[in-house]
Amino acid sequence: MSFRIGQGFDVHAFAEGRRLVLGGVEIPHNLGLAGHSDADVLTHAVCDAVLGAAGLGDIGRHFPDTEAQYKDADSLELLQKVVAAVLAKGYHVSNVDATVIAEVPKLAPYIEQMQTRLAAKLNVSAEQVNVKATTTETLGFTGRREGIAAMAVVLLTEAP
Ligand SMILES: [Zn+2]
Repeated sequence: MSFRIGQGFDVHAFAEGRRLVLGGVEIPHNLGLAGHSDADVLTHAVCDAVLGAAGLGDIGRHFPDTEAQYKDADSLELLQKVVAAVLAKGYHVSNVDATVIAEVPKLAPYIEQMQTRLAAKLNVSAEQVNVKATTTETLGFTGRREGIAAMAVVLLTEAP
């Protein structure tokens, strides 16, 4: 059995008139996130971590934001495509650990649902996906409520 680790990081700015989608869960808030797709910053970080672990580049290479087909794309569908590419290389997701960095809104009520939604696309059980939320104690761009950042680490296993 061999192991491969990958990490992902993403940031999106808050914008008016947009939905706030994190880990495939729509969260009620007065602002959403700006982006070409649904701007699901958490799912993007997970996609990049999975791609990185498999040595498959990054999300921008697979789903360019210059392509109309990815406008307002459901990022969970992008994750499903990423996982399919990784499975095709003989890797399986062992576990995912992710952190969402946001001053607002409070995310605790939605964490479990995010884990369930991500796990379904990652082909794993919800216990293999951990999502955490934190603030930066009002410091920096997330602290000034300008946007949301997300980080993710993924471990892949390769069956011999
Ligand atoms: Zn993104």
